[in-house]
Amino acid sequence: MIEDEIKILIDAASRIGRKDRDNSKFHPSEIGGCSRKIWYNMMGVKGEDFSPRTCRIFDNGHFVHERFNRMFEKLGILEWEEKKVSDDLFSGHADASIKVAGNSVLVDYKSIGSYGFKLLKEGSEFLKEEYKAQLTVYMGLLHKSNCYFIFENKDNQDVLVKELVFNMDYFNSLRAKASKIREDMSTNKLPDRDFDITTSWVCKYCKYKSLCEVNQKK
Ligand code: SF4
Repeated sequence: MIEDEIKILIDAASRIGRKDRDNSKFHPSEIGGCSRKIWYNMMGVKGEDFSPRTCRIFDNGHFVHERFNRMFEKLGILEWEEKKVSDDLFSGHADASIKVAGNSVLVDYKSIGSYGFKLLKEGSEFLKEEYKAQLTVYMGLLHKSNCYFIFENKDNQDVLVKELVFNMDYFNSLRAKASKIREDMSTNKLPDRDFDITTSWVCKYCKYKSLCEVNQKK
């Protein structure tokens, strides 16, 4: 049937051009997550392939970046976009800097679902640890005292802006976490699980779940 053929083609196309990340340094977007998962990733262990649907979700996130950057460019306030930021431990690309009221403002774009968006809008502190960690690393490396998340509700394109203030203690704890994982890599020691594999939704969507399950260690 033509319908099935089209779906197969879309699924196949969704995976085209997806490159593996450079794992020689820690990626700021991952350092807030499970230490064991980061260890597997950095050791080059191949997990399950992302589903075509997951690949399309990633692509949507990239298109959101592109759209905001072009908007800010039209306004003449985009200072830079996708800037490589790195040190001895971390390497990643910060989303953008824009000029607002005479200040250079570091911004990060996130597209999120309606539930999380509603919580944030109501003033909840709900914010994924990975997001906080990622922006804390970028602020630390770029010597910024604050930054702004620009959240877009992926269901209706509503927009919300939230400030995150730099916390040096948290930044140092993320550096310590990365150093410990690097030490465990050098001795081939698998870190403990950071989540309960039987109940955590994080584990449910982890590409290393089957591998992690067979390892009897905690
Ligand atoms: S399945 Fe859970 S505990 Fe295991 S590596 Fe993935 S996130 Fe970590």
